[in-house]
Amino acid sequence: MPHGGADLLLSERLAARRGMTMADECIFCRIGRKEVPSQPIYEDHDLIAVPDIQPAAPVHVLIIPKEHMVNLNDVGKNDVGILGKMLRLAAKIANEKGIAESGYRVVINNGEDGGQVVPHLHLHLLGGKPLNQKMG
Ligand code: AMP
Ligand code: ZN
Repeated sequence: MPHGGADLLLSERLAARRGMTMADECIFCRIGRKEVPSQPIYEDHDLIAVPDIQPAAPVHVLIIPKEHMVNLNDVGKNDVGILGKMLRLAAKIANEKGIAESGYRVVINNGEDGGQVVPHLHLHLLGGKPLNQKMG
């Protein structure tokens, strides 16, 4: 979906000024394209799952769509299937990591107040201990 100038994030404006698109230099796009080293837990045509480099719990996996979408605000009706795949993959990885029964949390941070740091949609899968921070 094309963005108007006023809608661009600061990070996108800075990338554009250097003659690059956000997707060119976006860290999660680059992980998806294997331009930076990572140890994927899962990968297919649409998604890649990698351990978070700063884990907040014993299990902390990021599930990342390969297509560049900033966050849920950027998800169109043709992308709904990707969201379903992300959630199903979270449950599958939770099962493989042995935390399906003990419990886990899935989180999508959106925008500044939501605490989003990387402007490429991603889902956090967290578990392996009782998670103490409640929502809000
Ligand atoms: P968020 O606040 O939802 O944008 O979270 C971004 C997450 O990405 C943080 O938990 C970071 O630790 C994680 N992160 C940033 N760069 C990388 C990377 N290269 N590989 C894995 N995780 C990363
Ligand atoms: Zn990206």
